[in-house]
Amino acid sequence: MAEYWNAELETQPWLEVERWQAAQVTVMLPALRRRSRLYARLHAGVADSLAVRSAADLAALPFTLKDDLRIAQLAAGEAEPLGENQGVPRDELVQAISSSGTTGRPLYYGLSARDVEIFADAIANVWFTAGIRRGDIVAHLVGLPMVAGGLPYADGFRRIGATLCWLGGFPTERILREMRHLRVTAMLATTSFALHLSEKWDQVGCETGIASCLRKVLGGGEPGMAQPELRRRIVGGLGLSHLRETMGLGDVIPSMWGECEVEEGMHFNAQRYVMLELIDPESGQALPWREGGTGELVYTTFAREATPVVRYRSRDHAEVVAMRCACGRTSPRIRCIGRTDDMLVYKGMNVFPTAIRDLVVDRFAGRIEPLLRLWKASREQVRFDVAIPVEVEASAALDDAQRAALAGEIETMVRTQLQVRIAVTVLDRGGLPRGVYKNAIVAVREP
Ligand SMILES: [Zn+2]
Repeated sequence: MAEYWNAELETQPWLEVERWQAAQVTVMLPALRRRSRLYARLHAGVADSLAVRSAADLAALPFTLKDDLRIAQLAAGEAEPLGENQGVPRDELVQAISSSGTTGRPLYYGLSARDVEIFADAIANVWFTAGIRRGDIVAHLVGLPMVAGGLPYADGFRRIGATLCWLGGFPTERILREMRHLRVTAMLATTSFALHLSEKWDQVGCETGIASCLRKVLGGGEPGMAQPELRRRIVGGLGLSHLRETMGLGDVIPSMWGECEVEEGMHFNAQRYVMLELIDPESGQALPWREGGTGELVYTTFAREATPVVRYRSRDHAEVVAMRCACGRTSPRIRCIGRTDDMLVYKGMNVFPTAIRDLVVDRFAGRIEPLLRLWKASREQVRFDVAIPVEVEASAALDDAQRAALAGEIETMVRTQLQVRIAVTVLDRGGLPRGVYKNAIVAVREP
């Protein structure tokens, strides 16, 4: 018997969901231009009478880019600490959150009391789809209270009625011990932390003498949970079978997508608050939701009060896995295939770092650890005319001769498969970072 967080919206035909959302957007738009100076400017040429009847009608509106939000924030002042896109008076803001700030100065977002409710409900919907239930004891590992993955994620777990154990911020070894002591049944982890855990979990069990109660792992914060070799390693190391990927965006709602029990791609779970589009990133044209289609995800918040966004370009590239599902949910099912920001060009060939990682990890399973790091000379570097520097970790099982041959074999395979040259450095096992929040595949050698 299938269970849903919001049975009506999750099982309605997707076109009907879109029509309902379009009606919400129609009502929201004129009010938005009065609330947000950013949208008064961006939508200056849009008629108050514009009626949005379907997702296609959104094309009458301009996109919002991250740079638009940055510029809007530059206008911050005492009355508007969030700048031109502050959609409510200062008195109505109950929380400020920040982007993780891994690239440049962080962006700030605000929550009104209603926004807090919206976040909690939408995020609970994702956790529920991913299998979290009342009675679960959940380890929440994000240790940065200011980021969108902090309190909003915690609120989502409590909204379901699960027991929140906010362990983020402790050293890793302590987190692992606390998880045994608290009889944690579920955790939300980055892909690389889940891998780290899978390597240490048995040892912690011996030290504490407490049997593992861990049954469910939710992946989030970095792509990779869809990678078969990685899934196999985590599932094997932790002795569990429930491994689900989740994804969101701090600028919109920090978790909006979650995998159901079918475990083949993530459903959109924020349909009550956010309208979704798939576009061609080059032309900006809307694309149909069709199995096998790929494009950039674009979000319109129609219920967000404090820092709303309309047609926000996420830079996340998705592949549509399916438009129907055995679980009965009707929202598109996707997997994230990369970020536009991460796209590299090797002698005219476009390549996503995730494509290199997935190929190498898959083909060299058992000989390397399922992690990979790629180096750029500067944050701005997109083009490579020489081989792209890549680091992998050798599996402990390799002998010296096998290890010596490894780099060359990986380089040849990638050149053959992707027409891209890489220069591989083989590290010892444990040589790559395994953090609890947003690990990047791409690293930058700043001078
Ligand atoms: Zn499903």
